[in-house]
Amino acid sequence: KLKQQPKWVKTTCPYCGTGCGVEAQVNQDNSVTIRGDESHPTNLGNLCSKGLTLADTLVPEGRLSECYIRGQAQSMETTLSYVASSFNKVIAEHGPDAVAFYVSGQLLTEDYYIANKLMKGFIGSSNIDSNSRLCMSSAVVAHKRAFGEDAVPACYGDIEAAEHICLVGSNLAWCHPILFRRIKQAKMANPNLKITVIDPRRTDTCDITDLHLAIRPGTDVALYNGLLEFLDQENACDLTYIAEHTEGFEEALKSAYQSTPSWEELAAFCNLELDTMLAFFRRFTDIDKTLTLFSQGVNQSTSGTNKVNAIINCHLATGRVGKPGASPFSVTGQPNAMGGREVGGLASMLAAHMDFTPESHALVSEFWHTDKLATKNGAKAIDMFDQVHQGKIKAIWIMGTNPVVSLPDSDKIQQALLNCPLVVVSDCIAKSDTIACADVLLPAQGWGEKTGTVTNSERCISRQRGFLPSVGEAKADWWLLAEVAKRMGFTKDFSFESEADVFAEYAQMTGFKQDALPRGLDIAVLADQDYDQHKPMQWPIKGNKSQARLFTDGHFSTPSGKANFIALYHKSAASSVCQDYPMILNTGRNRDQWHSMSRTGLATKLNGHMPEPLLSINPQDLTERGITDGSLVAVESLQGKLLVRAHATVSQNPGELFLPIHWSRQNASAGAISSLVAGHTDPLSGQPENKYTPVSVSAW
Ligand code: SF4
Repeated sequence: KLKQQPKWVKTTCPYCGTGCGVEAQVNQDNSVTIRGDESHPTNLGNLCSKGLTLADTLVPEGRLSECYIRGQAQSMETTLSYVASSFNKVIAEHGPDAVAFYVSGQLLTEDYYIANKLMKGFIGSSNIDSNSRLCMSSAVVAHKRAFGEDAVPACYGDIEAAEHICLVGSNLAWCHPILFRRIKQAKMANPNLKITVIDPRRTDTCDITDLHLAIRPGTDVALYNGLLEFLDQENACDLTYIAEHTEGFEEALKSAYQSTPSWEELAAFCNLELDTMLAFFRRFTDIDKTLTLFSQGVNQSTSGTNKVNAIINCHLATGRVGKPGASPFSVTGQPNAMGGREVGGLASMLAAHMDFTPESHALVSEFWHTDKLATKNGAKAIDMFDQVHQGKIKAIWIMGTNPVVSLPDSDKIQQALLNCPLVVVSDCIAKSDTIACADVLLPAQGWGEKTGTVTNSERCISRQRGFLPSVGEAKADWWLLAEVAKRMGFTKDFSFESEADVFAEYAQMTGFKQDALPRGLDIAVLADQDYDQHKPMQWPIKGNKSQARLFTDGHFSTPSGKANFIALYHKSAASSVCQDYPMILNTGRNRDQWHSMSRTGLATKLNGHMPEPLLSINPQDLTERGITDGSLVAVESLQGKLLVRAHATVSQNPGELFLPIHWSRQNASAGAISSLVAGHTDPLSGQPENKYTPVSVSAW
């Protein structure tokens, strides 16, 4: 039965952090038609290949439609009660830190809010972390260090306002195609717009660049320290802005001078032509309206936080933060990584942009009426699964994500889950490498069925709306969590009737005691508005007015109100190339696939772009190994070994390789690509180093 009569329903794309508006219509024959939402400010009706094929992914085949306990179908009531009593038993015997939730940037803000409230507020542990840890956690920590708050100062309108766009570690053409299209259109409208790409690979994003720095992997801090010194030497620093609005400039500049040898040596260290490097320095120096868009190529590193701060240092030095066309701009990977971090769904934050300070702790305890609120950080993603592996965590609930494919050292993750006494998985699909390790399965609603909100990379909160009936017994993730919470004994605090109720409570929390404890994230005004009528709006929202840019007046969220420069030095990656593993493997997204392909793999049209995982390798490296283009090769690291097909391309520098992340044991015989990657993490952010794995390549 149709939920609604045929009409266009406004919702949001479930893939990347661009956050495009989508309209969906259920036709009389129950087929679905998808089109871009012309009224959505992000995409104005445009969609990329993934968004355009969403209707092809809405099939009942392969869906998880009922509950299971150890392979036996069970009623929803039996399963919810079993999960609740099992979690309570583990907590009673081993304490609250013996349980964990591993959540996903695919969840909606309402799901995240309930998961965070249950784990931190009522179980009393902070063992809730998200696959967003793999995506943007380095940017989160860098924002907090520099601005005093995890807040993106820029907006998409800066693309059109900029006169120089610098893309660092971001293949926007494949990973955020609609943003890439906006840059192309901006370039057509303004032929003087300069576009720089800093990326070890020559990706499709380079098609619009007039300056490509094929930087040596991992040398970003050195490059940006060099830029900071160059700005100083050219008298291009905004000394008034620095004096009035920042702290720590002298120390940061000193570290830049100390770590920068001659320009020739720096260029050689970064594997760049001197002229190319200086052309970038000159361009950044001369063009006031410089927008730096950065993404996973910066974040996914054991020095990811420092890399982000190195970029921010140069923007602070030139006073280019929160100004039209001039800001550092973290572009998020997932549709709701931002919403998740806003409610606090990471182990390293408390709730609604508050940390574990005594003041925040008291505020959240009062708001949630709890005396059990967690007091300290929990286990971040990699540590969480290490603790599962060690037997410290004895019950884990994984929601809407596939860590056995996506986390580094994935064979170890699989082993950890197989040995864990209780693994609960709630998902909309019936089969995945992670589901194969589960003891309990809970059917979750998929895109098109669920309803709630998401926040995109520019802080824009948009509605996702359901337009299809749920498959089988599938329920919203927040509902499954709330029902388990009630059965754990927290009935009063989890008696929500709808997504609108959940969102209203979250919105109220952002405004609670703002006078006593001011926070930048404030959407309290939305709590009283009609949830179904919410239009896309950027937070903070005061008096019903969105704020496109942050820190425009030079006032930041630090105790002093000033932004912080961070003194930085280059640090090598955790593992170095050696005789046995002489090449560097970089991993990332393919143009037409998403994560472990559980959804995009259903759209036939998307499978033509790259039907199997291809290893991008420079022809010279193939020749040296006596391998022909297109043949099967073995890629081996300290962690594992995979069989893939070689694809010769000069887009890779010699000695550097690229593999797309999407393939797994379910959809390729060789195994998960991430089984090659080690679990080394940034000590500040906990983000893994997915971009730098020493490997060998040989004929199969
Ligand atoms: Fe969806 Fe991202 Fe494509 Fe927009 S750019 S349609 S959000 S995948």
